Amino acid sequence: MSIANFPLDPQNVIHPGNDPWDPIASLRQHGRHVLTSVEMTITNLCNMRCEHCAVGDSLVMVEPEQIPLSLVLKRLDEVEHLKTISITGGEPTFRKQTVDEKIIPLLRYAKERGIKSQINSNLTLDYERYEKLLPYLDVMHISFNYTSADDFHEIGFARSGHSVKREVAERMYETMMENSIRLSQAGMFVSAETMINYRTYRKLPEIHRMILEMGCKRHEVHPMYAADFAEGLPLLSLEDICMSVESLLDARDPDTWMLFGTLPFFACSPSETEQKLIQRLRDEPMVTVRNDPDGRNRVNVNMFTGEVFVTDFAAIPSFGNVDTESLDQIFNKWLHTHPLNKTVNCYCDAAGCCGPNLLVKDMYYKDIDFKSRSAITL
Ligand code: SF4
Repeated sequence: MSIANFPLDPQNVIHPGNDPWDPIASLRQHGRHVLTSVEMTITNLCNMRCEHCAVGDSLVMVEPEQIPLSLVLKRLDEVEHLKTISITGGEPTFRKQTVDEKIIPLLRYAKERGIKSQINSNLTLDYERYEKLLPYLDVMHISFNYTSADDFHEIGFARSGHSVKREVAERMYETMMENSIRLSQAGMFVSAETMINYRTYRKLPEIHRMILEMGCKRHEVHPMYAADFAEGLPLLSLEDICMSVESLLDARDPDTWMLFGTLPFFACSPSETEQKLIQRLRDEPMVTVRNDPDGRNRVNVNMFTGEVFVTDFAAIPSFGNVDTESLDQIFNKWLHTHPLNKTVNCYCDAAGCCGPNLLVKDMYYKDIDFKSRSAITL
């Protein structure tokens, strides 16, 4: 379902036929899941407090010392099949010192090793700190769930605990859009992610149009699942998500790459509506569906404690620590021994699907045994 319709690019350029974050490629190559992707939580500081933030509960005002960068680089070096690194927060660029002393060395390492890199940023700070990343970074990943500065104000500071003036929010909103335009013009691959949730599910075409105006090279769309900060937010029905994706496919720019992730629709579904949508996603040009990387080909390293998680949501406790074990060892422990992994590690090669995300399974398919199902549409 995901990248199968596109020829692989020998130049290893990121495009719809080559998404190095999708676990299906390494699963096919090695015949089993291997660790190819390491995400690092580099800060818990952030200038925003978004309603939907996946790591909102971890955000702080002051943070402790980090583990030595040399240890992290050593652990990355040991990962045999490493293809990508991702740097996340908080807002990774919140402190300029982090940009210079941590982020740039990590990105430089990735470049020298020939692997791809991504930063998850809100892009609301001064242009100069993002500009510094231009020579090294492959994907600047931002969240964009708004149609106006009012949306941004309401969503972006929902959890700040004190009121933030509308003018302040508006300035940040404009800075984010200007930064995206300038960075895109300078050659950066800016990928904007929109969450499908109770606020956005009827507005995706409009959000898409704004993302195009911001010069983004890719629009990512993921349903929002209730975790951590977002726990209390209303859950959309599968029908609403399906309708929302269809409305976006109807209105999208056919020349811009659309990447769908963590969708709750599978080729083994008995629902005719879902099967139709899956077929459409497969047939549409410039549309890909990424399999969920969490616990399939990716781990998350906390740069303060060295603890390793299979998701950055931290709902599943740490699996080990880079201080004492290699990342491949820790990943294999999860893969081979954890009962939760055994509930979602199905694989239908012809459908390009390697099973549901853990949150998706928990939220919509509690009683479904995916291991006993197989793809109907191929
Ligand atoms: S059984 Fe698993 S791998 Fe096969 S289509 Fe369903 S979710 Fe995907």
